[in-house]
Amino acid sequence: TEIRQQRGEFEGAFDSLVHLAVIIDPNGVIRHANHAFLLRAQQTREQLVGRQLSDYLSQELAQWVRALPPSPLPGGFAVREMDDDSLNGVFFVTVSDFCDADGAVRGRVFMAPDRLTVSHLEAQREARRQQLTQSEKLAALGQFVAGIAHELNNPLQSVIGYLDLLRTTGAVTREAYPQIRTIAREADRAAQIVKNLLIFARSGHLARRPSHVNAILQRALRSRQQPCRAAQIEIVRNYDVTIPRIHGDPLMLHQVFLNVMLNAEQAVVATGRPGRIDVASTADRNQQRLIVTVRDTGPGIPEDLLSRVFEPFFTTKDVGKGTGLGLAISYGIVHEHGGTIAAANHSEGGALFTIELPFNLLA
Ligand code: ADP
Repeated sequence: TEIRQQRGEFEGAFDSLVHLAVIIDPNGVIRHANHAFLLRAQQTREQLVGRQLSDYLSQELAQWVRALPPSPLPGGFAVREMDDDSLNGVFFVTVSDFCDADGAVRGRVFMAPDRLTVSHLEAQREARRQQLTQSEKLAALGQFVAGIAHELNNPLQSVIGYLDLLRTTGAVTREAYPQIRTIAREADRAAQIVKNLLIFARSGHLARRPSHVNAILQRALRSRQQPCRAAQIEIVRNYDVTIPRIHGDPLMLHQVFLNVMLNAEQAVVATGRPGRIDVASTADRNQQRLIVTVRDTGPGIPEDLLSRVFEPFFTTKDVGKGTGLGLAISYGIVHEHGGTIAAANHSEGGALFTIELPFNLLA
């Protein structure tokens, strides 16, 4: 019984190998073949055992196996990388002497790592490498963008400052006022782009700390309270007060909520009618995620543009009104937090933005 049990264990282990394994006698006749080999050769064990191994290999590989020096092999094994049509794959083949307990050579062990497992490993390694290069690239891009933004910011602030000076000292004639106003508006727009670029550059380096999403939302909404009241936009808040704190960057999350809120406000204003913005926070405890939704009563987003709104510099707003960076930056910040941001249209009209942040950032 004990011997049968031990034999079963060895056979089980042999069959559990993901690599192709065959044991041949000194004449090249198959004595044992594991499950992985049977699968590749598309044969049953009964069909295979007793046949020549070379029957199941490509000519090239069979020739190599036949041409190996007699046992004992120099160094105990031979190795070869080979593209094998018969076994359908690229294999890293090893052949080693098969010795019994007394050290007598009884045959050879033919072993070939299954290409699927190897390519799976390689794919994993490649994905990790790409992920790393991607984050390195983003970090480099962030530094580059931050450098440019800083360099541009100084002369821009001078332009804006001197324009103000010209206006307040009355050094310009009345006829030149419209041009001066245009210069000032465009300079402000450039300053807004620079500010967004600086935020983008920072989004790769979050300053995380325990943060309460409701409080961040509240701060963002407060800054838009007056303009919304003036435009007859009602802000309806629906916070779940039981949501947990997360480990996030409050300044960056504030920027996300503010961008989404500003878009909602501009969308309602575009209708020329009074409107409403619904802001809600909830927690999906099964999925371990916080969910913030912002819905407006604006015209919504045309279906064919839904997938484009997060692209950098994508804007449908007039020149001077939109930079097309708000949602692109928000997307970057939310993803940096391990979350998602999605745009949709509400069934009853208006746009609906959903921001999800994972709980695993729990502080
Ligand atoms: P910007 O607001 O400067 O145009 P964003 O990246 O914030 O840049 O938004 C990109 C575009 O997405 C907007 O120009 C607009 O077409 C669309 N969009 C965003 N939010 C809304 C909304 N609430 N309702 C309708 N369209 C929206």
